[in-house]
Amino acid sequence: MDNSLQGKNILVTGASRGIGQAIAVHCASLGANVAGLATRTSNLDATAAAIQELGGEFLGLEGDISLAATATDAIAAVIEKWGTLDGLVANAGITRDNLLLRMTQEDFDAVINTNLGGSFHLLKAATKPMLRNKGGSIIFIGSVVATTGNPGQANYCAAKAGLHGLARSAAIELGSRNITVNVIAPGFIATDMTDKLPEAAKEAMTSHIALKRPGTPEDIAGLSAFLLGPSGSYITGQVMLVDGGLSLA
Ligand code: NDP
Repeated sequence: MDNSLQGKNILVTGASRGIGQAIAVHCASLGANVAGLATRTSNLDATAAAIQELGGEFLGLEGDISLAATATDAIAAVIEKWGTLDGLVANAGITRDNLLLRMTQEDFDAVINTNLGGSFHLLKAATKPMLRNKGGSIIFIGSVVATTGNPGQANYCAAKAGLHGLARSAAIELGSRNITVNVIAPGFIATDMTDKLPEAAKEAMTSHIALKRPGTPEDIAGLSAFLLGPSGSYITGQVMLVDGGLSLA
């Protein structure tokens, strides 16, 4: 089956760098019009340039995704520009790591409100235009640690685990309207987020990966495009691991 995204209008949050940027550029390379959201539009310059070089259309949007208005404004801007929303990748996320005894309420709330709350705001805002459009594909970017847990990341693991329930429930509610909702759960991917980990922690993590290397943002982009396109149209309510075999250890 041809998995072209030609003519599809797709919103990717956290599109300024790392995994979100790779997804945005890959979708554009398959013919999609891509809207990217980051905390500031100026952070999206490199993504915009890469997409424009491919001859694609890019719409840069800014805001804090922990606020519901950011999601509604972003989706309204996509509809205003292109008329429909076919795909949503809720990728923007943060970490505020600390052991439980030292984790502040503020660190807990920031991660829950951004990683889980942001995805909820986007899901709510995307549903209406997708219902009107009689279909759509929604992807949440989760994490393998949602199921394993990870010391120092109780807030992050709780937020990512919440995405599983959110996706499954939404998949059941929206399935009859031809809207799919899935989670892609990356393992250890080389981005700014993981670059700040101590070198020893990175080496220890890599040693547990069956493929013996960290993933690249592009390793996540391929499955995202598959789920957003015609080939993924009968897949919903699933949590898909892209982790090089990390979860096997
Ligand atoms: P990065 O830290 O490299 O990029 C984060 C992106 O999210 C940036 O585009 C950033 O925008 C955006 N962002 C952060 N906070 C907000 C906010 N409040 N509102 C809007 N945008 C925001 O992260 P990764 O690419 O590594 O991670 C992307 C997703 O993948 C995250 O959800 C992460 O949890 C998940 N993930 C990553 C893994 C990894 O190993 N890297 C493993 C498993 C999951 P700006 O540039 O403006 O700050």
